[in-house]
Amino acid sequence: AQLTNDDVRHLAKELGVKFIRLQFTDIFGVLKNVSITVEQLDKALNGELMFDGSSIEGFVRIEESDMYLRPDPATFVVFPWRPRDGAVARLICDIFNADGTPFIGDPRYVLKRVIAEAREMGFTMNVGPEAEFFLFHVDSDGRPTTITHDRAGYFDLTPVDLGEDARRDMVLTLEQMGFEIEASHHEVAPGQHEIDFKYADALDTADKVVTFKFVVRTIAQRHGLHASFMPKPIFGIAGSGMHLNQSLMKNGENAFYDPQAPLQLSDTALYYIGGLIKHARAIAAITNPTVNSYKRLVSGYEAPVYIAWSSRNRSPLIRIPAKRGQSTRIELRSPDPSCNPYLALAVCLAAGLDGIKNRILPPPPCDCNIYEMSVREREERGIGCLPESLKEALDELERDEVIKEALGPHVYSRFMEAKRIEWDRYRVQVHPWEIEEYLTKY
Ligand code: GLN
Ligand code: MG
Ligand code: MG
Ligand code: MG
Repeated sequence: AQLTNDDVRHLAKELGVKFIRLQFTDIFGVLKNVSITVEQLDKALNGELMFDGSSIEGFVRIEESDMYLRPDPATFVVFPWRPRDGAVARLICDIFNADGTPFIGDPRYVLKRVIAEAREMGFTMNVGPEAEFFLFHVDSDGRPTTITHDRAGYFDLTPVDLGEDARRDMVLTLEQMGFEIEASHHEVAPGQHEIDFKYADALDTADKVVTFKFVVRTIAQRHGLHASFMPKPIFGIAGSGMHLNQSLMKNGENAFYDPQAPLQLSDTALYYIGGLIKHARAIAAITNPTVNSYKRLVSGYEAPVYIAWSSRNRSPLIRIPAKRGQSTRIELRSPDPSCNPYLALAVCLAAGLDGIKNRILPPPPCDCNIYEMSVREREERGIGCLPESLKEALDELERDEVIKEALGPHVYSRFMEAKRIEWDRYRVQVHPWEIEEYLTKY
């Protein structure tokens, strides 16, 4: 059962909560918060607390800056790493305009809108994310480095895996905060880890992803390490992805499962895949929103490059894990953990729903190694490529009305504006690679 405002009041008293952090994210998925004392809790729960929206990236201009936070009581949780006495809890908030209408630039609202559209069609989206991250050493001044703390690899265990203590602490902390952890392991690259938690509905999962990143970073810091969700921190080794396992439920049943169909995938599942494939290039701007994201999407590191799907092979964009029945799902492998999870889930769902509404069939599944195909073979099978740069992705987003519509005019224009600037700042830089390559040659 979900917590109500009354439950929150009681729990806060019972658990000796003194401080409450009211959290929300900006359009880039960066977690923001304001701390209040428990004495202000009633006011907060009534949605009476105001903040200056003009100071949050991508929100509003000075002239219209009064905004209200409305906490979602279901998100109440105590931070286990803070003292029991004078405990600290948090509430994730929705953002409202001064006139009481929801703020359309709030990423959580963007996701809620697409969820409502799905609900009208009878669907609920479930998502299970697999976020990867690195644990790095800090230098003597406490600044993060890119020196990994170990030399271990996939599924290795101690004594090589020095991150194990930190990871164990992360898992225990997350569990105390209501996460059901399904697996945690060392990833392929040195210093790289993954912690998987159980799938939930889209809104709950997006809330959990922001909480997850915050907890992982906090606990790493307490172990003297820096946790980074940057997609490709080191050239030449694997980057960090955030695979999104997605399914739709209808009338309590998994709508992707059809025991009679080929591959036991329903038409709904095929259309959903068709929609994701059709919009894959525009979606990249949201699921892979940084300059660095595109350095991960290269061949050789289990990250996708080609727009294809398969029931077996791990190189394409979409993989169908073997499980069927209630666990039938598709795994989108392009997203990376630098994305705003609210927006990422919103655009995936919008693309899938577009596929269902317009009965978009995907090309046939591709169970062979796409990396070994010639350009010609790929073209014959209709296998495109993901964008190679942030710029290419932004250009695609600009052309995709379905994805723009899902973001809404506010988020779309602010996101586009900020990301074009980010690209331009990068474009004029002189990179160490260029010095290495050209300085003595010319
Ligand atoms: N790190 C890989 C990526 O960038 C994924 C590796 C895996 O989970 N199999 O997506
Ligand atoms: Mg995994
Ligand atoms: Mg992994
Ligand atoms: Mg995976």
